[in-house]
Amino acid sequence: MEPKLWNQFEKALKKRVGSVSYQRWLSQLKLQKFLPHKVILTCPNKFVLDWIRLKYYKDIITTFKLLMGKEFSIEFLVSESNDKKTETSPPRQLSLPGTERYLTGLPFVNREYTFNNFVVGPSNHLAYASALAVSERKPRIYNPLFFYSSEGLGKTHLSSAMGQKIFYENPDIKVFYTTAEWFTHEMIQALRKNRILEFKEKYRRQCDVLVIEDIQFLQGKEKTQEEIFYTLDTLIQMDKQVVLTANSNPREINNLKENLKSRMGSGLVVDIKPPDYETKKNIILRKGAEENVKISEEVADYIARTIKSNIRDLKSAVIQLIANASLLGEKIDLKLAKETLKGFVQKRMVDVTDIQKFISHHFKVTPDQLQSRSRSRAISYPRQVAYYFCRKYTDRTLTDIGKYFNRNHSSVLRALNNFEIALRTNRGVRDALNYLTQKFEETYF
Ligand code: ADP
Ligand code: MG
Repeated sequence: MEPKLWNQFEKALKKRVGSVSYQRWLSQLKLQKFLPHKVILTCPNKFVLDWIRLKYYKDIITTFKLLMGKEFSIEFLVSESNDKKTETSPPRQLSLPGTERYLTGLPFVNREYTFNNFVVGPSNHLAYASALAVSERKPRIYNPLFFYSSEGLGKTHLSSAMGQKIFYENPDIKVFYTTAEWFTHEMIQALRKNRILEFKEKYRRQCDVLVIEDIQFLQGKEKTQEEIFYTLDTLIQMDKQVVLTANSNPREINNLKENLKSRMGSGLVVDIKPPDYETKKNIILRKGAEENVKISEEVADYIARTIKSNIRDLKSAVIQLIANASLLGEKIDLKLAKETLKGFVQKRMVDVTDIQKFISHHFKVTPDQLQSRSRSRAISYPRQVAYYFCRKYTDRTLTDIGKYFNRNHSSVLRALNNFEIALRTNRGVRDALNYLTQKFEETYF
């Protein structure tokens, strides 16, 4: 295709979808190859690619058709130079070229957390309805909206679904997603670098929707509490939406200043309860369907009755079951379900030292080396995996974990962020982690 034709295509597409959408998304498309019946286009990353494919596929096909007088099939690829590049600085999970809306917040945990795949039942319907109302930009009567529940019951799922829906449907609205932990970290950095005014300005003036998760982290941190208090106050007065989550009711979080507690509790406070039997079954069947696997009534019933902890465990049990069936070439029946679930029922407690031992053994480094100042990759990579396991398998705080490795809390946090980026961008790291996770669980659970 001549450059001129490609130019015409771009113009026509821009006209078709409007210049905002074009600038934000489609301007990132590049022509890679033009074949007799097929056009190969590239985008800078998978996220942009998915989005374009989902939203603009038809527009692209039609524009080509109008321009060239015949139908072309379209293939999208991630451009190679970008595919290989791994990001180094943390908070850019959804790094969207051309948008500044995430620059300061953390990325949403998971783009797959949507309203569509959230199973609603009596335990969570109020939380669901209020998150949906907020994302539809109804007049802001739920401000702040505060979700609380114990682990693994859907706070992050819902707040991400809400934030993402607003983000994608309202190009002009700035959505910030962060955690109390990251907010604290950023604030400390800003203080250190004499940039606290910038920091304040950013949160108070530059966001339209602010999500802060895991507020319980602020316990005893008076400075951050004060900053968050003024941030919330300013935002709410300006009628900007605030959404908060925590593991308990704001009034029951210890070591939190009274004014902050009442500020946080002044909108709508909703708790998410553990799911009832029916909801659990729906989640199991839905998860099966998502993986294209039919789970029988009998097996669903067994899993729903056996897993009592939370939805996270429920979903992992289903995934594990499907994985086992496919690995062993067996069908998913009650016998396999019983075997699979053994590990979930008898969870043993593991601590940081178990993890250090395990990681040392597998990476052939000594626990001393893990705790040393060494930054060589042969040591820092196992150390990152160890942090990751500590987060996953223990209830320890980052500060606690840090102590075992002679690190402070923000150093652990940074390493974890880097590791999570590597996990998303590097298949090798993902595969290695899956392998290690399996070994670890075989050893300890
Ligand atoms: P929390 O933030 O409360 O600890 P998450 O939002 O991380 O919990 O949820 C844990 C897991 O359970 C996630 O995989 C999430 O998708 C899933 N989950 C939670 N609630 C539901 C639901 N109602 N329907 C489907 N999946 C759910
Ligand atoms: Mg969460």
